[in-house]
Amino acid sequence: MALARTPAPATGPTDFAAFAAGIRGTVIRPDDATYEQAREVHNATFDRRPLAIVQASSAADVARTVVFARDTGLELAVRGGAHSVAGFGTSEGGIVLDLGQMKGLHIDPVRRLAWAQAGLRAGEYTAAAAAHGLATPFGDTGSVGIGGLTLGGGIGWLVRKYGLAIDSLVSVEIVTADGRIVIASATENPDLFWAVRGGGGNFGVVTRFQFRLHPVSTVLAGALFLPPTRDALRGLEAAAAAAPEALTTISMLMPAPPAPFIPESVHGQLTLAVMFVFDGDPESGQRALEPFRALATPMAELVAPMPYIGIYELLKAAEQRAPSTHRSLFLDTLDDDAVDTILERMSKPSSPLAMTQIRILGGQMARVPADATAFAHRHAKVMVVLITPFQDAAEAPVHAAWTHEYFEALRPRAIGVYSNFLEAEGEDRIREAYPTATYRRLADVKRRYDPTNLFRLNQNIAPTASVA
Ligand SMILES: Cc1cc2nc3c(=O)[nH]c(=O)nc-3n(C[C@H](O)[C@H](O)[C@H](O)COP(=O)(O)OP(=O)(O)OC[C@H]3O[C@@H](n4cnc5c(N)ncnc54)[C@H](O)[C@@H]3O)c2cc1C
Repeated sequence: MALARTPAPATGPTDFAAFAAGIRGTVIRPDDATYEQAREVHNATFDRRPLAIVQASSAADVARTVVFARDTGLELAVRGGAHSVAGFGTSEGGIVLDLGQMKGLHIDPVRRLAWAQAGLRAGEYTAAAAAHGLATPFGDTGSVGIGGLTLGGGIGWLVRKYGLAIDSLVSVEIVTADGRIVIASATENPDLFWAVRGGGGNFGVVTRFQFRLHPVSTVLAGALFLPPTRDALRGLEAAAAAAPEALTTISMLMPAPPAPFIPESVHGQLTLAVMFVFDGDPESGQRALEPFRALATPMAELVAPMPYIGIYELLKAAEQRAPSTHRSLFLDTLDDDAVDTILERMSKPSSPLAMTQIRILGGQMARVPADATAFAHRHAKVMVVLITPFQDAAEAPVHAAWTHEYFEALRPRAIGVYSNFLEAEGEDRIREAYPTATYRRLADVKRRYDPTNLFRLNQNIAPTASVA
């Protein structure tokens, strides 16, 4: 596939009508019938009204919009799948550059390579790759965009077997702040390629990702719903870390959903749902689950061989748009104190929908050297994400306060944070996502590629940052 490379456009129109006339995609203004829907993002806490939403159709549209935002000084929000937990995919009074219509996907099953446009969602890509018995690791939910997820790192169902999403990234086509369309890979603009693998949207707008694909077809997947006992939580880390790397678990301390495979008597009761994907033969998968069943007698089970995409079908509920608030942290271990804190806080949540997600990491993710990409927390063994969805957006402050206090109780044990689960929590928290050596290198790349900080609606690395 031919790759676009363009010189920097000197300048573009600063008059809106002239700018919009040159866009081949769709430009949506507040008066348009589609505006209300087009401005929505997944986290309904963020109810902003942009000046315009540019639904780009090509890298040329993206470059034109970047240059327009640069020349007018309008705030620029870049959006792929619109799942930013921080609300970075929208803007009050600025321009939203929405890549969601750019869904081109070219799969080369022989070389096991894919060129994917940035508007694809994890589920769409995964369904197309499944037709070839192949997959690229993304996250736990099909509706999340491959763009934001990959640029932050990408931690999903195959993380222990195949690493992060960025570990399968071969190159990107990216529009930089000066409006150029360039390629970044191990050999072309390698500093930029290093930075986009974990550094988020700080360096430009990626229009295409080139990924490696792995042979993945039928997996054993599902969930064991354990009683949420202290012993079960205490044993979770050891069981998951000792499991074959074919097994990745994502556990949720949450109310048991009213699903047909869960006895009605426990619907709504707190459960430890150990969700998993085992990418190997089903008998070995069943054996790998035994240590989890030994933690506590399951309240219910759903364990079945299924196509890999099946796990996204099981998690459709997570795709629902709702207001929610989040806090997250990496831990070295899930020790007794952390378990007690989690159980105590979850016994009196501010919202009946509150969940605590626990991911036990390791495997291939940890084998990549910490300085190989801008995602440096390779050795974090545990990731905890506090997710508090709620119904009434007006109650946001109550749930934000509860979630933040819960987080503060765990925080003394934190060894860092994953940028993609950060809200807009301030500079200190961004520094927790990027250890000093990583941050210094990111700031250096930022200074060279985006000296005026055009791309600032993200976990922002300021070009002016002085790093001790
Ligand atoms: C329900 C849910 C489940 C999740 N599960 C996981 C998970 O399992 N694993 C995981 O790693 N993360 C997970 N996340 C976090 C997710 O990775 C981030 O929220 C990510 O930013 C979402 O990407 P998006 O493209 O959908 O979001 P968007 O809101 O479209 O983008 C988020 C930000 O990323 C940047 N960005 C997006 N696309 C581009 C692009 N093409 N070029 C430049 N910058 C871009 C922009 O700064 C943008 O503001 C989950 C989030 C949610 C809400």
